[in-house]
Amino acid sequence: MCGIVGYVGNGPIVSILTDGLKRLEYRGYDSAGIAVASENGLRVEKAVGKVKSLEAKIHADWPDFDSVPHGAGIAHTRWATHGAPLEKNAHPHLDEKGRFAVVHNGIIENYSSLRANLIRKGHVFSSETDTEVIPHLIEECFEGDLVKAVTAALKQLEGTFGIAVVSPQFPDRLVVARRGSPIVVGVCDNEAVVASDVSAIISHTKQVIYLNDNDIALITKDSIDLRNIDNVPVTREISHIDWDAGAAEKSGYEHFMLKEIWEQPLSLANTLRGRLDENGATAVLNGLNLGPKDFASTSRILIAACGTSLHAGMLGDYFFEDLADLPTEFEQAAEFRYRNPIIQPGSLVVAISQSGETADTLAAVREAARKGASVAAICNVVGSTIARESGAGIYLHAGPEIGVASTKAFSCQVAALLMMALKFGRARRLSREEGLEIIDELKKLPDKISQVLASSSHIEAVAEKYACAENFFYIGRGYLYPAALEGALKLKEISYIHAEGYHAAELKHGPIALLEEKVPVLALACEIPGKDKMIGNIQECRARKSPVIAVSTIGDKEMAEHADDIISIPQASPYLTPILAVVAMQLFAYYVAKKRNCAIDQPRNLAKSVTVE
Ligand code: GLU
Repeated sequence: MCGIVGYVGNGPIVSILTDGLKRLEYRGYDSAGIAVASENGLRVEKAVGKVKSLEAKIHADWPDFDSVPHGAGIAHTRWATHGAPLEKNAHPHLDEKGRFAVVHNGIIENYSSLRANLIRKGHVFSSETDTEVIPHLIEECFEGDLVKAVTAALKQLEGTFGIAVVSPQFPDRLVVARRGSPIVVGVCDNEAVVASDVSAIISHTKQVIYLNDNDIALITKDSIDLRNIDNVPVTREISHIDWDAGAAEKSGYEHFMLKEIWEQPLSLANTLRGRLDENGATAVLNGLNLGPKDFASTSRILIAACGTSLHAGMLGDYFFEDLADLPTEFEQAAEFRYRNPIIQPGSLVVAISQSGETADTLAAVREAARKGASVAAICNVVGSTIARESGAGIYLHAGPEIGVASTKAFSCQVAALLMMALKFGRARRLSREEGLEIIDELKKLPDKISQVLASSSHIEAVAEKYACAENFFYIGRGYLYPAALEGALKLKEISYIHAEGYHAAELKHGPIALLEEKVPVLALACEIPGKDKMIGNIQECRARKSPVIAVSTIGDKEMAEHADDIISIPQASPYLTPILAVVAMQLFAYYVAKKRNCAIDQPRNLAKSVTVE
């Protein structure tokens, strides 16, 4: 779930590994550690807290750390699942003889029976983690060949893992493997670097290999030997990363989240680039691998996603039904395979995940494929597992999203879904004029987002006024209902204020009991169908003394009568108004969290990509 970095070569190993960990810091974690195997033996350092604490510890305990002779090293940031975030539980973990060191992302589901078995055989454990069974198993299986021992150990594991292994007996080797948790190998000259995420590799090389599930790689500074778990050599294509290390830096912004909010005009332009066809009044989405007949013959769409992506998916549901008359459902991806999703001929499953590694969404993709559905993925990370396994889809090209609270991915996902609905709509029922109108709206979207951003100091002032609240309601109707859910999610993620997103009409069915003067309501009252009814809902809130912040359309003079504070966004079609409203609410959440001195890029208990169920 958190971060892995590995290196083999003649470079300053310790600095390379800690630099790599810093590039993964955005993922959120509780402790960090490093192990270096060289002709001097194995050296391990761990610390609770940030990479800075680990660095401080290395500097204090290991003054000549940068003169380690060439060797192999692994490093980890941990997001605890089994055992508290203590030094003894931080990775790397070792067998009791110190022959093998392992870092692991994921969860070993059968660890307790494996551990009991290993203890019976005389192994001594020193942590509470599930991970620690791995080095002990490797030690148990070792008969002189490192890869064979790792393979034999992995065959006994149930659950998910991305791992990296070093051994002082083989200081020129690094072994990595994956099942359900990503591992990427950078293809470099005369050295090798691996990581769980390309952002830790990009400063070394742009050529990478994504491991598939059950791949095991033996890596030296000159070679990459890839095998599957049955020891059969496999080849994986080399992918090229199309962004620079600078894209994963803050570039003068105080937080990644703020940078990514401000990047939205550009990231949206990138999502739309080359995909709007004015001649055909449609969208060009070749990655969907669908022919003209498929657009007409698809009979049902099922959208599976989690969190922010699910909110984008809810909007997709409206788009497909309104523009293409296509029966559509959205589903929390974690439920998908535990229910009985009805897949019929003509069903298309659309999986949405920024990282392309979300465990529940990946499981939904696999279940959908097993049941014979066509699958299309909407992902940001090129080459990610969901993108590869779906085999068809739309890449967002939004650039790396580092802030844990997703921002630019949301707006790009919504734009991608709208283009997809446009494509289906044109094949089924939308007129050329209607198609051109949507294209025109999409083309204007980046500028309209810039207009919302230009009002950020006003949004900041409103946010500061409400930053002391402990409870919040966000309400919306129609296209602005999923937007309300997303706005509330942003606030709780980064400011820790309890915020509930509700359909404005649903308020009366219970939550209105909670309204009082200390509970503000953010009401999405923009100029789209449903606004009149929203005014009524706002009045219901005010009658209970709740202060109301209205997100309304620029030029709406009446809103001042209804709301205590107003955030105005440009007029846009109902399809795109939710994006503009969400951008305003991203800024609102950001400034509330800033006022409350929260760790905006690394909110407590959260991790960027959720690769465990
Ligand atoms: N399950 C392991 C642990 O709790 C790995 C967690 C992670 O992915 O960081 O140590």
